[in-house]
Amino acid sequence: MITPTLRPITDTPVHFYIETYGCQMNVGDTEIVVSIMQDHGYSYTDDISKADIILINTCSVRDGAEQRVWGRLAEFASLRKRRPSLIVGVIGCMAERLRERLTEGDKGVDIVAGPDAYRSLPSLMEEVKNGGKGVNVLLSREETYADISPVRLDRNGVSAFVSIMRGCNNMCSYCVVPYTRGAERSRPADTIMAEVRDLFAKGYREVTLLGQNVNSYRHADTSFADLMRMTAEVSPLLRVRFATSHPKDLSDELLDVMASHPNICRAIHLPAQSGSDTMLERMNRKYTRAWYLERIDAIKRRMPDCAITTDLIAGFCGETQEEHEATLSLMRQVGYQFAYMFKYSEREGTKASRHMKDDIPDRLKTERLTQIINLQNELSLQSNKEDVGKSFEVLVEGASKRNPAELVGRTSQNKVCVWADTTHRPGDYVTVTVDDCTSATLLCHLT
Ligand code: SF4
Repeated sequence: MITPTLRPITDTPVHFYIETYGCQMNVGDTEIVVSIMQDHGYSYTDDISKADIILINTCSVRDGAEQRVWGRLAEFASLRKRRPSLIVGVIGCMAERLRERLTEGDKGVDIVAGPDAYRSLPSLMEEVKNGGKGVNVLLSREETYADISPVRLDRNGVSAFVSIMRGCNNMCSYCVVPYTRGAERSRPADTIMAEVRDLFAKGYREVTLLGQNVNSYRHADTSFADLMRMTAEVSPLLRVRFATSHPKDLSDELLDVMASHPNICRAIHLPAQSGSDTMLERMNRKYTRAWYLERIDAIKRRMPDCAITTDLIAGFCGETQEEHEATLSLMRQVGYQFAYMFKYSEREGTKASRHMKDDIPDRLKTERLTQIINLQNELSLQSNKEDVGKSFEVLVEGASKRNPAELVGRTSQNKVCVWADTTHRPGDYVTVTVDDCTSATLLCHLT
């Protein structure tokens, strides 16, 4: 007879499938997990119906992301009624934050592994095969997965993420990341450079250096600016991007390195979160509006063509109408090309959840968010219209999904271009001229 703890798990569950939620760091982590699992004899499949093991790499930054995962877990639980040997694992930030809830009762979860516990996944699998649950949510002060070669799951073979640091020390009052991903630690530069050179040799033409707070990277004597210079000097044919930066760590030294290397992309994601000093203080962002705007000027002085994108939160604790309007005016003043925009969602354990009131009614949060989104759509369209008639060098990513006779690629400013072309291939550089645009895409022809 089968008991809940002795399910008929096959001796050799070999095929695993991973679903990834959240930020680019999670996409990078999934590639590390695939590498670890494959090194231990498991085979990756992108077909869930063939999987013996389903892993779900989760995000805790907003409640909506967690709710989606709970929904998926309910679906996997009913799948397991038909396939009792199926192993289900929750990994990443939600595993770290909600380990007890995930393992109590019968949630249909066999494995819970936090962001610093991926190396233990094969041994956690063994615990499950022996009838137990595999749980490891220990955070580490050292783990950077520096020696693991991520298995690239993207299909275009042109752009790759390279994780260079993990964790965050900033303690923004609304953010759960320092609790789910632990303290900052940087990966040795030589292992990063080896990974970048290997990617270039394999035909990749764009790398994005990734970290929760990427520009606070420092390992021994190597600063983030040094690392960017070393990466850019691998080849002029390699484009270099980075995400995500904190305004307080955007140094002049970094901007000088960017300005002197044309293959470092003219695009900086600089999360503002709010345009109001009183709000920035409550958020514990450690800069003022004036200081942030001075950094924008510092970028524009060196790289007038640099695109600036941001993150904005609507309806954080105690947000007044005046504070909200300060965010709208900051958006107009900077003229962002793109923004990630969200309603504030309280996360248990953060400083805001302990010491502040989530007191903005949902209706008002939605209203303010809608105003922010509408303004951003106008700004994005305006920025794209300014590009009509101009020519750009574009890195080809692949065929357009809508029309196989068209190619898609990006400018250095990270704007998506589409043009009619059946001769070029992913990884080629071409020059296009912009004929027209939407708020999201530049419609071009080959020049
Ligand atoms: S910088 Fe702030 S918002 Fe970003 S991960 Fe760290 S604590 Fe969170």
